[in-house]
Amino acid sequence: MTTIDRNLQGVRDRIAQACAAAGRPSGAVELLAVSKTFGAEAVRAAALAGQRLFGENYIQEAVEKMAQVAAMGLPQALEWHCIGPVQSNKTRLVAEHFDWVHTVDRLKTAQRLSDQRPADRPPLQVCIQVNVDGGPTKAGVPADEALALARAVAQLPRLRLRGVMSIPDEAPDAARQAAVMLRVRQVFDLLRAQGGAGFEAFDTLSLGMTGDLEAAVAAGSTLVRVGSGIFGARQYAMR
Ligand SMILES: *Cc1c(COP(=O)(O)O)cnc(C)c1O
Repeated sequence: MTTIDRNLQGVRDRIAQACAAAGRPSGAVELLAVSKTFGAEAVRAAALAGQRLFGENYIQEAVEKMAQVAAMGLPQALEWHCIGPVQSNKTRLVAEHFDWVHTVDRLKTAQRLSDQRPADRPPLQVCIQVNVDGGPTKAGVPADEALALARAVAQLPRLRLRGVMSIPDEAPDAARQAAVMLRVRQVFDLLRAQGGAGFEAFDTLSLGMTGDLEAAVAAGSTLVRVGSGIFGARQYAMR
């Protein structure tokens, strides 16, 4: 067993325990392995341990890694999720290479992604990033603007609206952490209930990372994004 194998198993166990504690079926929460700053070999090791969903933040790095991983001839097809900010000059690369984007927080970005999604690929699966606890400098649409943005995104022909994503700040204690997670869940529930046309596939609450996945699962997350818990500490200085 490699370290990545062991770590993956540990994270899967944490998710299963969190599901059980929340009275949710095991399998209610998908695991996205966040491989940013780690190389193709790390992705390969996780894939050989059964991992299928991978998340990346830095577009250029991700696209290079995807090509390296493709050349390795893995047994299963991987699904790539963009979880980093998408600048206008990067939308084409994202539209051409990723399966999912979690970080849509402006209609202009969504329109470009839809326009640039190649005709021979399935629609790009997207989540609306919501900012429930930060000021205007934090990425994500404010909660009270999320429904309008999601409805507009749902009308774009080459995108498929899948849900809501959020990155709550680390909270000072468990009660405040639970409260902020619950605010995200409430936005998700509101959009799902009131969205209307184009929300048929709206089923994903992308919430929780290595440090807070239990709280996220308790709040109803359906997809946790775990990096360091699988691959170890990131060394940004080495990039
Ligand atoms: C890096 C990152 C993660 C993973 O964080 P860890 O704490 O390493 O699990 C999850 N989500 C987003 C948006 C990230 O940028």
